[in-house]
Amino acid sequence: MLDRVSRTDRGGRVAVLGAGIAGCITALELARQGHDVDLIDNGKIPMSQASLHNEGKLHLGYVYAADKSGPTCERMIEGALSFLPILSQITGVPASSFAQSKPFLYGVPRDSQMSPDEIAAHFSRVDTAIAKFEREHETDAGTPAPHRRLTGNEYRQWFDPRLVGAAFATDERSVDTVGIANLVSACIYAEPRIELRLGTTVETAEAAPGGWDITCRAASGAERLRYAGVVNALWGDRLRLDSEIGVHSGRTCLLRYKASVTLDAPGMASTVNTPSATLMVGSYGDFVNHGDGRFYLSWYPVCKLAETSDINPRPMLEMVTREMDREAIASATLEALLRYLPSLSRLTPALDRIRVGGGVIAAWGETDIDDPESGLHERHEIGPTRHGSWVTLDTGKYCTAPLYALRAANLVLEA
Ligand SMILES: Cc1cc2nc3c(=O)[nH]c(=O)nc-3n(C[C@H](O)[C@H](O)[C@H](O)COP(=O)(O)OP(=O)(O)OC[C@H]3O[C@@H](n4cnc5c(N)ncnc54)[C@H](O)[C@@H]3O)c2cc1C
Repeated sequence: MLDRVSRTDRGGRVAVLGAGIAGCITALELARQGHDVDLIDNGKIPMSQASLHNEGKLHLGYVYAADKSGPTCERMIEGALSFLPILSQITGVPASSFAQSKPFLYGVPRDSQMSPDEIAAHFSRVDTAIAKFEREHETDAGTPAPHRRLTGNEYRQWFDPRLVGAAFATDERSVDTVGIANLVSACIYAEPRIELRLGTTVETAEAAPGGWDITCRAASGAERLRYAGVVNALWGDRLRLDSEIGVHSGRTCLLRYKASVTLDAPGMASTVNTPSATLMVGSYGDFVNHGDGRFYLSWYPVCKLAETSDINPRPMLEMVTREMDREAIASATLEALLRYLPSLSRLTPALDRIRVGGGVIAAWGETDIDDPESGLHERHEIGPTRHGSWVTLDTGKYCTAPLYALRAANLVLEA
């Protein structure tokens, strides 16, 4: 079989595996520094998976109240506050031109894993960490305002008080993941130093003289390509490929497939004035109001479709493709959110226009978020790690992707 695989030495080129936000920004940064890059992805277009179908929240760390060890909010703050400045630097589009959603309220359900006072204490820690970051770094992202606990009358305007016992206002927002995917993809297509290999599945990797051999499969057949350096930004398939070259994390990574539920209804921009909202802490959901008639909905018990602690995501992805019932997900998600945010009933007439996509979430942990002790409540052991000229990039979150992509590009060049 291997005899029929064509072999090509790609010279001093770097392979970036995976054209999500992490891989695309890594490739663009390498090209900006004068290096030739092959960007390989099995999709038909770049940025078609988690980096497209996510909520786009630039996390400041408020949601990670159950992180007992602490540093998650610092990781989120540095990622979120550098997200737009880095995108601006990479794409040439001013940071102020990127659309942002209405700011998030956080509702605390009466059966939350944490009390409103515990959450208030955590939110104050986040505000202190934001202020510290702002003091220590020059950013032009704009300083987020500190949180504020809503009065009873204020939060009853949006949340059903029978289910939600307290709420907080924050300055956290979501960005437009579709607009960003289009913009970043256009930069990739326009960059002559990047050769984009779409429809190409990365199958195996092994150490080779002077670099790494990557075996890929495309419609035209299998190919073995030799690269001087590799950045593994495959996200859901990252640990499987790392294990091929003998890099084993030695810990459990939970791969969850989560559906995304979106509605584009420009005519509803003025009628649906419900703020963006997240319910915490536990197995609840989110609503994002982009302010222009685009909405994102999520109800965790409905939208989390599958999970596996196997490093090979393929069986899970095949199962989701076979069994995903988009209509049922859309109606059950809206129905669940409506109980907590009754004003979302204004979306009901548009139910048949709701679109359902989805993507993988990869995070260290053994149990799901309904377990207060789950590792999923923390997200700080993330970022790129170098093994010779092989860099494996744990993106962590969408909001931390640009920062870690720049670091990954620099790490592979250091080798
Ligand atoms: C529903 C949902 C909501 C989320 N909400 C948020 C949020 O609000 N804020 C936030 O910060 N984060 C959020 N996340 C997490 C965020 O989406 C991810 O952390 C981020 O997008 C990962 O980026 P990536 O480039 O590493 O992965 P991806 O965008 O998945 O890119 C990886 C690429 O690798 C390709 N690929 C994989 N395996 C192979 C292979 N073997 N061969 C070839 N190509 C392959 C895929 O096609 C894909 O294009 C959410 C995730 C989901 C699923």
